Amino acid sequence: MALLNILNYPDKRLHKIAKPVDKVDAEVRRLMDDMLETMYKAPGIGLAAPQVGELKRVIVIDLAREDEKPQPLRMANPELIAVSDEDAVYNEGCLSLPEHYADVTRPAAIKVRYLDHENEIRELEADGLLATCIQHEMDHLEGILFVDHLTALKRNMILRKLLKAKKSQQPVSA
Ligand SMILES: [Zn+2]
Repeated sequence: MALLNILNYPDKRLHKIAKPVDKVDAEVRRLMDDMLETMYKAPGIGLAAPQVGELKRVIVIDLAREDEKPQPLRMANPELIAVSDEDAVYNEGCLSLPEHYADVTRPAAIKVRYLDHENEIRELEADGLLATCIQHEMDHLEGILFVDHLTALKRNMILRKLLKAKKSQQPVSA
């Protein structure tokens, strides 16, 4: 297992569309495990392959709290096969946009089909935080970040704060 480098917004690579994997083989399984290790270390509850510079349709999620047993979900080629009419609003954050949060509205419940780490087709019904997290990670596969769901005004406010933070971190050159 290895820790991977997480790309930060506004890196252009975060806006590319990821390609499906042919099958979940040893290489994809290793990517999933490395992504989980990277996500736990961050720490975060979800990570998509494009966030570590891999344009593959692979996501990992674990909503277990620190004092709970890990419950990792490894998904390749996830597809939404049903969404509820009812919406839910969550205050979302993203490992590619550290320390920024905003309310995002998404379908409250979903049904997703995916390949698991053993290349088996699985279906999962989810609601609550899990439904939000799966949709957030699936957005990354389309090159969409949670800030893309916000108004341009709100998005620019976050972007300006990010750029300012970056500038102040730079060492002074004389
Ligand atoms: Zn994210």
